[in-house]
Amino acid sequence: MQDTPSRIALLIVAAGRGARFGEGVPKQYRNLGGAPLLAVTLRACHAALPDAAIVVVINASDKALFQNVADHAAGMNLSAVTGGATRQESVWLGLQALQRHPPDLVLIHDGVRPFATPELFSRVINAASATGSAIPGLPLTDTIKQIDAAGMITGSPDRARLMRVQTPQAFAFAQIFAAHARLAATASFDLTDDAAVMAAAGYDVAVVAGDSANVKVTFPEDLQVTSNLTDTRTGQGFDVHAFGPGDHVMLGGVRIPHHAGLVGHSDADVLLHALTDALYGALADGDIGQHFPPHDPQWRGQASSLFFRHALARLAARHGRLAHLDATLICETPKIGPHAQAIRENIAALAGISLDRVALKATTSERLGFTGRGEGMAAMAIATIRLPGSNDDV
Ligand code: MG
Repeated sequence: MQDTPSRIALLIVAAGRGARFGEGVPKQYRNLGGAPLLAVTLRACHAALPDAAIVVVINASDKALFQNVADHAAGMNLSAVTGGATRQESVWLGLQALQRHPPDLVLIHDGVRPFATPELFSRVINAASATGSAIPGLPLTDTIKQIDAAGMITGSPDRARLMRVQTPQAFAFAQIFAAHARLAATASFDLTDDAAVMAAAGYDVAVVAGDSANVKVTFPEDLQVTSNLTDTRTGQGFDVHAFGPGDHVMLGGVRIPHHAGLVGHSDADVLLHALTDALYGALADGDIGQHFPPHDPQWRGQASSLFFRHALARLAARHGRLAHLDATLICETPKIGPHAQAIRENIAALAGISLDRVALKATTSERLGFTGRGEGMAAMAIATIRLPGSNDDV
């Protein structure tokens, strides 16, 4: 959803041992709705910044676990580096890996924050593009007390001047690299976020509005709550576009050579439109024409993956998961079979789900009706999603 000329990279910190989480598999590799937590975080990053290089800093003993995460991250520009003894050292190692092809902006994000939305990424990127660095923060609702070593209250700080901060934190790459280099050379303490590293190096850091849904999974209960996806819903979508002049059609984001094109305000990707409406349907959240009015000039010629990603972001914002997509294309030509695998793979990559969760069929209409006469194409789609259950439901 980004419209900035700068080159952006993502640095995901996932080397921690999570002492507060207890024994066993590290929390970033625990299951969250059918995938490792870290894979869910990576999908959220990929949905927000599909072209960004992603470097994940992992623990040296987690290589096999990370391979499983990578298997869930098809279509991403993903690499891993081994972290250090502290968070600060891990970030520094990740920044050194990025230094080989330095981006303009780097977003540093916790591997255990799976619910960051594209809107949140946009807010920090836009602010950091203007100021050099920006982090998300939220006001405090609880009253804060300062205590001494014996647990006795020694002060009540003014809540209005305090914020609790989150990730992703966005920085001009050259600045955060210099700040970490300086600290690595001089200091032995461990700073728990990178805004503190920037501040220690004398840079100003802006705070933009955070998102209370962007939780950091810290305790086992957090994971139980977030994986309680018991509310299964299904939505359907249908779309039609007419053939017109052109030499290709777009289907599921794949360019297919044809002796005609499809006519539409956007790129007329009839398949992505039906899938997008199926997602909105499952969410009971309007339709594509409501979210992207066809008379609005900004959507002219737009890649329809934008609409599809918007619906996915609405799903993510409700802490839901996409379980399955199924679609049928109806046309006499072009022949879909030779392209079906590529189309499925592209849809799976866009949606951040595995290939076995994306079905595509095609049929003719036996030369009957508008599709039979070759006047246009139709697409039908069904999306199945899972949302967090609530006591009020069914
Ligand atoms: Mg359409």
